Amino acid sequence: MLIVGAGAVGASVALHAARSGLQVLVVEKEAAPALHQSGRNSGVCHAGYNLKPGTQKAQFCVEGSRRLREWCATRGVPLEVGGILVVATRESELPTLYELKRRSEENGVRADLVGEGEIRSLEPHSTGLAALHAPEGASFDTEAFVRSVLEEAQSHGAVVQYGVEVHALIDGSDCARARTDRGAIEAGVAVNCAGLQADRVAGAVADDVRVIPFRGFYAELVPGREHLVRSHVYRAPDMAWPFLGVHASRRTDGRVLLGPGAMLAPGRESYGLLGIHAEDMAATLSWPGFRKLLRDRRFRRMAVSEVRKNFQLREIWKEAVELIPDLRPADLARSFAGNRAQLVRLDGTLVDDFLVRETKHCVHILNAVSPGLTGSLPFGEWVWQRAADLANGASRSGQGLGDRAGDDIFPDSRTATRERSGSAGKTERGETGPAGSLDEVR
Ligand SMILES: Cc1cc2nc3c(=O)[nH]c(=O)nc-3n(C[C@H](O)[C@H](O)[C@H](O)COP(=O)(O)OP(=O)(O)OC[C@H]3O[C@@H](n4cnc5c(N)ncnc54)[C@H](O)[C@@H]3O)c2cc1C
Repeated sequence: MLIVGAGAVGASVALHAARSGLQVLVVEKEAAPALHQSGRNSGVCHAGYNLKPGTQKAQFCVEGSRRLREWCATRGVPLEVGGILVVATRESELPTLYELKRRSEENGVRADLVGEGEIRSLEPHSTGLAALHAPEGASFDTEAFVRSVLEEAQSHGAVVQYGVEVHALIDGSDCARARTDRGAIEAGVAVNCAGLQADRVAGAVADDVRVIPFRGFYAELVPGREHLVRSHVYRAPDMAWPFLGVHASRRTDGRVLLGPGAMLAPGRESYGLLGIHAEDMAATLSWPGFRKLLRDRRFRRMAVSEVRKNFQLREIWKEAVELIPDLRPADLARSFAGNRAQLVRLDGTLVDDFLVRETKHCVHILNAVSPGLTGSLPFGEWVWQRAADLANGASRSGQGLGDRAGDDIFPDSRTATRERSGSAGKTERGETGPAGSLDEVR
């Protein structure tokens, strides 16, 4: 099995595949794991109270949260269970709390509605009319987590190669073929876990969707002011968007982050505001789905406010001070940014749930959005099972795993796709892709 990408998802797929006895090769274009989304994030082990019941995100987050806490406790990965408080600061936000409470019940997640007094006892520097408290919410060291998963995969025989970039992953007649900057690789089955680049690696299979990178910029509390936040304080979110809004989060190293926002990133892997990546920007701006998104007034309003937050710490402070009245503008310093790989359809809608597409020999993970880290252990296991089914089909037809060099082995592929989203394990629809030559797999 060939796995493209050594983020949390690729690492988890590798672990489960290697444990099952499959021969596994992970290729990663960077020199180390978790340098993109899996290492540039809020580091929250989400409890799963906020996710739409019945979605894959909800299912994998709830199970993933339990497994992640257990993993970190038994492998020495830093993790602190301090709980998450979602605060309503105005009457109009109360229905959001009730909706989150309803979702938590349906998802089987412990979360309690609390009043002003309890907010103070849980977070002495916070205030609000009411809040939802999820005691199982936690912080963890996400890079250490991904490294530990990869190490365990390696202990079961998985091989990880850094500095190998995959340009395309396609179906051959009897195996998956990867074209890389170091030559070609063939495998019985390949799994595309390339995060911010997943649609490009998938090629025609993902022609009707595109990764639009949203920059999440963080501020952090200056030394001496971290006591203002004990664990995690979130503002009741705007349910129209899959982003959670500004929150204050204590990391396992004691730093307290404020953020992240969600503005259009200047490049998929550009983290500085000036690092404009011309090809990425052109790809985003020319995408009909993005132009349709721009026509949405609510999106434009959000975009303007997010741009402000990226340039002026005071804008982040203005939101955060409603949750933490003792916060002063001078308490905030600029911190880091992380880009979300958010998939947008041709019609301008954001893909909300995880999206996985299968072809004859490839599995493409196209939308492993937040809480993708929290859900990564069960999600990777589920993906491994899908890929193993494909690999078994390949070995039954006499094709084993192996590497072959050579650049002339990529004929135009006739690729058959099927898509998996919604409830896990169920094929929602087979579809004919945009290349015009795609057949449904049954
Ligand atoms: C700002 C932000 C905050 C978040 N906060 C949280 C949180 O608190 N909790 C939570 O659960 N989730 C959170 N998430 C979501 C979470 O980070 C992602 O869902 C998860 O990390 C996705 O993992 P991944 O392995 O799919 O992608 P990635 O971590 O991006 O890994 C993809 C890997 O593929 C490699 N790659 C890409 N292209 C190629 C190629 N062509 N060839 C070879 N290798 C390639 C990349 O270098 C990278 O290492 C957050 C995300 C962001 C951006």
